[in-house]
Amino acid sequence: MTPGPTPVAPETLLAMAEPIIHHRSPQFSAILAEVEEGLKFVFQTKNDVLILVASGTGAMEGAVTNFLSAGDKALVVRGGKFGERWGAICEAYGVKALALDVEWGKSIRPEVIETALKNEKGIKAVYIQAHETSTGAKYPVEAIGNIVHQYPETIFVVDAISALGVYDLKTDDWHVDIMVSGSQKALMLPPGLAFASVSDKAWGLQKVATLPRYYFDFAKERKSLAKNSGAYTSAVSLIVGLQQVLKQIKAMGLEAIFARNKRLSEATKAGVKALGLKLYAEESPSEALTAILAPAGINGQDVVKVMREKYGVTIAGGQDQAKGKIFRISHMGYVNEFDVIVALSALELGLKDLGYAIELGAGVKAAEEVFSQ
Ligand SMILES: *Cc1c(COP(=O)(O)O)cnc(C)c1O
Repeated sequence: MTPGPTPVAPETLLAMAEPIIHHRSPQFSAILAEVEEGLKFVFQTKNDVLILVASGTGAMEGAVTNFLSAGDKALVVRGGKFGERWGAICEAYGVKALALDVEWGKSIRPEVIETALKNEKGIKAVYIQAHETSTGAKYPVEAIGNIVHQYPETIFVVDAISALGVYDLKTDDWHVDIMVSGSQKALMLPPGLAFASVSDKAWGLQKVATLPRYYFDFAKERKSLAKNSGAYTSAVSLIVGLQQVLKQIKAMGLEAIFARNKRLSEATKAGVKALGLKLYAEESPSEALTAILAPAGINGQDVVKVMREKYGVTIAGGQDQAKGKIFRISHMGYVNEFDVIVALSALELGLKDLGYAIELGAGVKAAEEVFSQ
């Protein structure tokens, strides 16, 4: 129950256990072509979705190096660990990252982006998360997309590494120029694949961008993809697993998957609130995970530890400044109602062990009430 890596379905594991076919064979090209169509469906885009052999951060790095030049200015929303990562990548390559700092646990107001774009001329890119996985706060992607769309020289880049496949993200309709994702979150695969959809507007910027790049060369990947191939050796088994996952996603439909995630999220949030706990991102919580403030006198890391070691449920702690202050329960991907019930039950027992006064069963009851509706 952590925000990545998430559980992998048995069908996917079996598909990935098949003998490895060659990455330049017609058999593999046919699979890649099918996977590419499936990715466009999940990304809700007509644009190419590049497939990289990397963790999600590889696609984040490529979303900077392929589109900007040294000295360019970019807006970066920094409301947690992953927003900070956008800033760090920009700085590593000599891009001037203009940080819009958001208090951890809070969301960004679209007007802040609008004002920044108005006041500072020549911003080439706006980098945000769909939600900050480190805090659980969801950002208003659609509203920001509509704002950035009015600036023909500025691209809008969204890190949806743990958001794609959880809730609605309309890449094309919401004017997201580059949507980045990864395999090990809601796409229910092991770690190792990163994805990036790229709009025509972004390809226009790519033509004049001069930052150094080699492995994450998006133009090269695009050229190979047109021939149903990767620029280098594809992660064959992961792509075969992805083919299986995409089949299931298509069969279920995006709407049904989003509704399912919403229910799991609502039940988890109702459960922790019934235990007297507070959400870290109270005003705009993401449906992918639930970030919870550790009760007074209890260290969030101890909650993680007791749940894992005594009750066999793996959740995530806080990172950096939130370490010890919070703990996070993820419910995206291959997770069902009873995983949520088990997690809440382990949480109740763990909190009791740590000396927190609770009524056993109150969290489970609240979650079951959501599920019975
Ligand atoms: C998990 C995550 C990442 C990190 O991706 P890696 O696959 O570890 O490189 C980046 N951004 C967000 C929002 C994430 O949830």
